[in-house]
Amino acid sequence: MKIGIPRALLYYQYYPAWKTFFEELGAEVVVSPHTTQSMITAGSSRVVADTCFPVKVFLGHVIWLADKCDRIFIPAIRSVEPRVYNCSKFLGLPDMTRAVIPEAPPFLEIDIDVNQGKNTLYRAVYSLGRNINQNPLKVKKAGQTAWQSYLDYREYMSRNSVSPPQILEDLTDNNSNAGKNSFLDTEGQKGTIAIIGHPYLIYDEYINHRLIHRLEKAGNKVVTPEMVSSHELKAAVKTVTGGAYWTYEDEVAGAGGYYLENKADGVIGIMAFGCGPDSLMMDMVRRYSAKLGSTPFMSLTLEEHTAEAGVVTRLEAFTDMVYRRKKANSKVCV
Ligand code: SF4
Repeated sequence: MKIGIPRALLYYQYYPAWKTFFEELGAEVVVSPHTTQSMITAGSSRVVADTCFPVKVFLGHVIWLADKCDRIFIPAIRSVEPRVYNCSKFLGLPDMTRAVIPEAPPFLEIDIDVNQGKNTLYRAVYSLGRNINQNPLKVKKAGQTAWQSYLDYREYMSRNSVSPPQILEDLTDNNSNAGKNSFLDTEGQKGTIAIIGHPYLIYDEYINHRLIHRLEKAGNKVVTPEMVSSHELKAAVKTVTGGAYWTYEDEVAGAGGYYLENKADGVIGIMAFGCGPDSLMMDMVRRYSAKLGSTPFMSLTLEEHTAEAGVVTRLEAFTDMVYRRKKANSKVCV
């Protein structure tokens, strides 16, 4: 069985685990290529304009995969932490995708909600796995190996300060360097810039107009949420918001709080047009930045009409301010 995985949304968090699970059970995994304009156009044409940009991108990837695999894996992830919930787009992702892309092959689905208890979770994993292999022991082993590969992936990134694309490119068949971020320490770097936000915005270089590449090329060191330990992110979420309500708050409020506390020279928050959770979380980060008054913060909103020139202009203005402030070593008001 050939299983398609869209290179969008949760791909950046969970691909190593998904690939391990399906391959352990004997399936072949196909990943859609890097985002292109035609994928965005195709995805956007299936939904109303108000739909958030990352979902439109996701749909474009599903359309690309539609005639290239036997099944497409689309999980519905409700909650991965007790009493912390995902945005509604993730909950209804399989149903929404089926409704707007009728030509897609059948989906492999799993409902993840840790609030329902461990037994429900194990049953969900088994019912996903038995689509490929009926042997419960094999499914159990595949689930355990996949979970370990997820833990190893997270641990490796925070310990070695590397980003998802540096690992994911090596795991996919398409080993081109396009979209690969280097995160090298730059000799005589001008500043350390933190980028916070969801991985599907930070690491999709087509939709963010090569943000990381531009910052590195200008002589900056770029740091991202995956380079901080989960423990430190959670502590920072508590400081900034008082406690997590939304899943993936770590990568917005947690990373924002952590890097604003003088661990970077400037912080850039990336958010998507049409995203309710981000508009709340990013505003909390902005308020925290104003309260500290020590590290410059800027937010950038991405959508299908975001112009490259606009991104470049804002980046240049922001980094100029960061360098001037660093030079003068003076306190700024945000
Ligand atoms: S968190 Fe925001 S950007 Fe992400 S899927 Fe939900 S609405 Fe879209």
